[in-house]
Amino acid sequence: MRPRLSYGPDVICVVPIGSVLPELVERVVRLLREVLGLPVIVGSLGIDKANALIATRGQYDATRLLLELREHCSSQTVRVIGITESDLCNLILDFVYGEAQVDGNVAVCSTARLRDCGETAEEPEQLQDRLAKVVLHELGHVFGLGHCEQEACVMRQAWCVDDIDRKAATYCASCLGALSWEIRRRVRPASGETVSTSRAA
Ligand SMILES: [Zn+2]
Ligand SMILES: [Zn+2]
Repeated sequence: MRPRLSYGPDVICVVPIGSVLPELVERVVRLLREVLGLPVIVGSLGIDKANALIATRGQYDATRLLLELREHCSSQTVRVIGITESDLCNLILDFVYGEAQVDGNVAVCSTARLRDCGETAEEPEQLQDRLAKVVLHELGHVFGLGHCEQEACVMRQAWCVDDIDRKAATYCASCLGALSWEIRRRVRPASGETVSTSRAA
């Protein structure tokens, strides 16, 4: 029987898929807590990414991984961010940094393309920074946000790591406003208090 997540709608669950550096996961958790002001937990679901392997490309199907994540959710209100070090693609794009179910509840992000080409020594801070931006971007999609034209906004579309580096690890005022509204609309804290996103400002 598959393990299932049954947290309330106010919880974001970060799920490593396969082996992922613990410090990368910890950075993502810290960042999401700070920016969203919501509880963030790490879940271990034992997702078998082999189900998503496209052997001819040596990559993993991001869309298939989203389906795998959804199958582990007890309801569509549980929000799950999968993190993998494997290279992701989908039917349209040669590779993706991440993919999200827009206006849904699941996203998946990859570190595979976030390291500079030819780099032998890992640069953890740069990698963490880039992954953080990919995660915030995909989570924005989960909450229904589209792409943004603002140069520094994390919701700006990125086609290469330089594009990611040019963005800030925050939402612009407009996107943050939309995100805050979506969180208030979808998440009903048990206390009746509204959630705070003020720390992202
Ligand atoms: Zn996007
Ligand atoms: Zn924006």
